[in-house]
Amino acid sequence: MNSPLSGRSPRVIVVGAGPVGLTAALTLARAGVAVTVLERSPELGSHSLATTFHPATLDLLAGLGVAEPLITGGTLVDRLQWRTCRGRVLAEMNMGLLTGMTDHPFRLHADQGRLLTLLERELARHRHAQLRLVCAADAITDTGAQVHIHAGGQWEAADYAIAADGAHSTIRSLLGVPLAATPYPTQALRVLTDTPLQQRLPGLAPLTYLQDRTLSCSLRQLPDHWQLVFRLPLTKDPSPATPHPTQRRPSRAAVTALTRQALPGFGKNLRILDAHSYRLARGVVPSLRHGRVFFAGDAAHLTSTAGGLNMNAGLQEAAELGEILAAVLSGGLPDAALDGWATRRRRILLQAVIPRAEAQVAGVQDRDRHRRRPAVTRLRAIAADPAATRDYLAKASLLDTISPPIGHT
Ligand SMILES: Cc1cc2nc3c(=O)[nH]c(=O)nc-3n(C[C@H](O)[C@H](O)[C@H](O)COP(=O)(O)OP(=O)(O)OC[C@H]3O[C@@H](n4cnc5c(N)ncnc54)[C@H](O)[C@@H]3O)c2cc1C
Repeated sequence: MNSPLSGRSPRVIVVGAGPVGLTAALTLARAGVAVTVLERSPELGSHSLATTFHPATLDLLAGLGVAEPLITGGTLVDRLQWRTCRGRVLAEMNMGLLTGMTDHPFRLHADQGRLLTLLERELARHRHAQLRLVCAADAITDTGAQVHIHAGGQWEAADYAIAADGAHSTIRSLLGVPLAATPYPTQALRVLTDTPLQQRLPGLAPLTYLQDRTLSCSLRQLPDHWQLVFRLPLTKDPSPATPHPTQRRPSRAAVTALTRQALPGFGKNLRILDAHSYRLARGVVPSLRHGRVFFAGDAAHLTSTAGGLNMNAGLQEAAELGEILAAVLSGGLPDAALDGWATRRRRILLQAVIPRAEAQVAGVQDRDRHRRRPAVTRLRAIAADPAATRDYLAKASLLDTISPPIGHT
């Protein structure tokens, strides 16, 4: 068990025990920094959203001691496939081409909630780390020398704070930090089925993009079910442009019509467990640093769910922030290293994460086949060239955005 840094014990408060907050907290705790996580809910992860874990993320989670059990309970994605709804394979890419660039040359489909359980368990091993549930942060003051946060009826002081309190971040509102969310013109519909699709569709990859003349849908295999994610035009919707997820339950008839179009061979044999549609938006805070407060995860950025990038990017920035903060608190790095983190990670969001998620929706996952066709042609050329495939997969996996060694921000 680690012990706090010697001398004055530097402290960080993390607001929000989602995947991003817990990753930051565990990174700090492992470095010996006393850390308190404030979570407003009585339990972790009441709604579970993300399922895609990219290779770079698995590498960082391995460093935190949680990758192995996550992998054991998930589905390994060894290849990506694009096929028509009638079963013609258009292209396939083997994730194994990433061998040598990562210890985990595959994607993982696993439950975001499972990650929370594993991170919480690891965090509990550090006596200088505390997780306080039912403790909503509702006021914050930055004195310049310390941050004071009011939660659960009392004020608490720390050297720094990390706002990882999600898309509707209270800390962002309290500090007046804007996140202008621009809604996307499409929404996502996620349908869950426990029908084993792989048994009826030979050669189906655990991650498959299905297409026909008017439809685009991705199929994701999890250990006990499949998820079908459709991109649909926004229907008339009276709600204002709030950050995602804005969840709605679509009509059964609409879901049935779509699933029959995507999987014509199944007819009534597709058992639907659940379906939700989500409005999606893009946006990034003007700076990931506001004095002694840092924004990470959905509190800092939103993008399309296509490509499964937003949480993965959040975990990367949280782990990197934790390492740099620990080094600053121990006197190993100057405070300016934190500015470097904020600038670098914002650039990654704007230049890599958001454009790559959007390129999926406007490219090979476009519903309009006339716009999609050139993207599919390009994709087939890439799939035919191992070096180009490796580059494509590395970028889609955010392997090129991982943190440089400490001190090189
Ligand atoms: C349908 C869907 C599918 C997705 N799939 C993927 C995917 O496959 N891959 C991917 O990378 N991303 C995916 N995402 C995005 C991903 O779910 C989010 O990026 C991720 O949950 C962000 O984690 P977070 O920790 O920043 O925020 P959250 O998970 O929202 O956690 C924030 C936490 O802060 C707490 N909190 C809020 N306010 C306060 C307060 N005032 N005081 C204390 N605590 C507070 C909340 O209770 C919550 O526990 C998906 C999103 C959706 C909608």
